[in-house]
Amino acid sequence: MQIYPLPVLRDNYIFLLVDPSSSTAAVVDPAEAAPVLSKLQELQLDLVTIFNTHHHQDHVGGNRDLLKVYPHAQVYGSVQDLGRIPGQTVGLEAGEQVQFAGQGAEVYFVPGHTRGHIAYYFRTSGDLFCGDTLFAGGCGRLFEGTPAQMLDSLDQLRHLPGNTRVWCAHEYTLNNLRFALSVDGQNLELRKRMERTQQMRQRQEPTVPSTIAVERATNPFLRWDDTSLQAHAGSQNPIAVFTYIRAAKDHF
Ligand code: ZN
Ligand code: FE
Repeated sequence: MQIYPLPVLRDNYIFLLVDPSSSTAAVVDPAEAAPVLSKLQELQLDLVTIFNTHHHQDHVGGNRDLLKVYPHAQVYGSVQDLGRIPGQTVGLEAGEQVQFAGQGAEVYFVPGHTRGHIAYYFRTSGDLFCGDTLFAGGCGRLFEGTPAQMLDSLDQLRHLPGNTRVWCAHEYTLNNLRFALSVDGQNLELRKRMERTQQMRQRQEPTVPSTIAVERATNPFLRWDDTSLQAHAGSQNPIAVFTYIRAAKDHF
């Protein structure tokens, strides 16, 4: 499976997944149809699957126009999002497997940003598509969920193998790391990551994908058991630490 990130809108990424052996493609969170259609044409591929992580417009905005050209494509999303993801054909539950390119993708139920948010984990290749749940250096805002739900969702992702590639849906990394340094400034790994990230952005390179190992070491939203973050939050309770950091980021 080959993965092409397509930067769209202000700071979104659409991911085009390609199975060269069958000349088929899948797309993760098509915010818009046009860039996907032109890439499919360029590579001469048939679109067979749309993977949606959640119902927000900047993740499903291209569904309808893609289906006009590829009406046979399956549209996957959470069972909770049936009725609010355009063209959705399958409602998925936690633990289900879906197939693409001869590989299974496991469905993780990761509410918090929205109540129906899911992530797709391709265990064989080590690729995680997590939408607006886990970001490089950050996490999604809590629009339809509680801190406890988001913490549980992030904890599931935190347990994936360290070399798992984290394909999140937005290029928010630089801002996320600025905030991370404000609550975890003594973290050497984090400081080095900031330097690397600044250089990458100066060269206009994407900072996505990240890896689970890098996130565990530097992302404050995965570090509720770190003593310096606990000291910042004034608590050792994971939910209290997470709630404190999320609120601080909301006002950063
Ligand atoms: Zn969203
Ligand atoms: Fe988004």
